[in-house]
Amino acid sequence: MAALTIRDSKRLVIKIGSALLVDDEGDLRSQWINALVSDAVEMYNSGTEIIIVSSGAIAIGRRILGLSGGPRNRALKLEESQASAAIGQVRLAHAWQEALEKHHIRAAQVLLTTEDTENRRRYLNARSTITTLLKMGVIPVINENDTVATEEIRFGDNDRLAARVAQMISADTCVILTDIDGLYTADPLIDPNATRISSVDTINDQLEAMAGTTSNEDGSGGMVTKIEAARITMQAGCRMAIGDGRTLNPLKAFESDTKCTWFMAQGEPQSARKLWIAASLNPVGTMFVDSGAAQALASGKSLLPAGVSKIDGVFFRGDPVIIRDENGLEIARGLSAYSNEDAVRIRGLKSSEIEKVLGFRGREEMIHRDDLVIT
Ligand code: GLU
Repeated sequence: MAALTIRDSKRLVIKIGSALLVDDEGDLRSQWINALVSDAVEMYNSGTEIIIVSSGAIAIGRRILGLSGGPRNRALKLEESQASAAIGQVRLAHAWQEALEKHHIRAAQVLLTTEDTENRRRYLNARSTITTLLKMGVIPVINENDTVATEEIRFGDNDRLAARVAQMISADTCVILTDIDGLYTADPLIDPNATRISSVDTINDQLEAMAGTTSNEDGSGGMVTKIEAARITMQAGCRMAIGDGRTLNPLKAFESDTKCTWFMAQGEPQSARKLWIAASLNPVGTMFVDSGAAQALASGKSLLPAGVSKIDGVFFRGDPVIIRDENGLEIARGLSAYSNEDAVRIRGLKSSEIEKVLGFRGREEMIHRDDLVIT
């Protein structure tokens, strides 16, 4: 079993709720943000990739707009939330940028909707943007794109957004900072016998019932959405922890299992993603490859346009395709980086010739090895 500490995380998503970032007056808690950032930077400096999922845009924006005395005292109409988010997001992103700049680290703002994590084409784009930022040493600060998300397609809560992001970028750890130090067997405010659960292997009805009893004031989620988030990350091979973020330097709580609840991952993030590519997708096209490419794939390499001899089917960027060898035997499945029309035009070419033929500088790979599984 993996050690229950965030210290050994390779790619860590930190989700921060509005109630931690914004005080009752709707002002940003800069001291808290600075303390969290110094701890995150310490991990960053020892090699952990950090992704921050930050709420707070609506809570800040509504105050600027005069839509409340406090940040959470009345329900806003959808368009009021969206207007608040548009205003508050600028301030929020700036606060993160300022805090990270003190450590000479660049921040990047990424705003996502559910569609960006579910539609495969947009998923591939969001995934490669975030992983490119990480490679550049940047810390992405992510929130829901509240201004364009309509009621039906909203995440609504950043717990689920954080889980989807963790899944999308194959993170190995996701921590949810909230106003309680984990999941309890009953509501600790009501039941004196309630005890904190230190680790969870599987989510069952009993556990969901426990989550339903625990009161939690943080943002829009509550414990129920945190359990939903855990379900997503666990299946994605990413462990998740819920802990109390109210004190300064809250990441310390996740260094052991004595101050938080850990939800254990089922497998590794990369293999969970490959399983998902291999099993749950309905391939819509076929790429036939030469023997050199077939060998390269078998040794774990990406599929380059040069090795593709023939394309069948109609597909878009991000769609699942089957890869067959010269004899027509299936050897792999993957997500195509190109539509069938573009793929036909660049097949057989060197990657350096792609731009000349397509008129834009696309991916070097027809299918990147992270999006490919040998079958
Ligand atoms: N995206 C919302 C915001 O930034 C927060 C949603 C949540 O609290 O989970 O204000």
